[in-house]
Amino acid sequence: MPVPTIGVLALQGDVREHVHALEEAGAKAVTVRRPGELETVDALVVPGGESTTMWKLAVTFDMLEPVRARIAGGMPVYGSCAGMIMLADRIEDGAAGQQTFGGIDMTVRRNAFGRQVDSFEADLDFAGRGPLRAVFIRAPWVESVGSSVEVLARAEPGDRIVAVRQGPLLATSFHPELTGDAGVHSYFAEMVREF
Ligand code: GLN
Repeated sequence: MPVPTIGVLALQGDVREHVHALEEAGAKAVTVRRPGELETVDALVVPGGESTTMWKLAVTFDMLEPVRARIAGGMPVYGSCAGMIMLADRIEDGAAGQQTFGGIDMTVRRNAFGRQVDSFEADLDFAGRGPLRAVFIRAPWVESVGSSVEVLARAEPGDRIVAVRQGPLLATSFHPELTGDAGVHSYFAEMVREF
């Protein structure tokens, strides 16, 4: 696949920033709001925002099951922050009845860092690729992962898991799209080319 077409789920959240970062990483980026648009993309980014709102809008726009079906079919997906929550098989501190797309065998705690500090920045070692500037905004952390999940980054306080990969699915607690460093998006674009 020479230039993959990567959709950014545009129900809610920081869509424009992801489109820009994907273009920096050499991908073709399009926004996706409807099941028909989902069919046209090779991969999907689920942005940061608010996972409870995103879940409700996914139900309203009939996107919950189509995204789940594409994930089951092996489509690469990257979720950042609220997007990480949307990719988790299990969530802690979710709203009543809160649903996710799921796909990554992990338990994610919503607003986990936010209980200690609302937002902060840190330099992380991401996937052994050296330092990466990461912005955390009312961010979740990963409480636990299954044996098929690879941990790609940890952060203080608490040496918490903040980036994971399971096959074609990638998730980060932080927002790489807000820093001008396209490292995570480049990593994802490489993943998409491999699949
Ligand atoms: N706290 C938000 C949630 O639960 C995530 C915050 C973010 O995406 N910056 O969805």
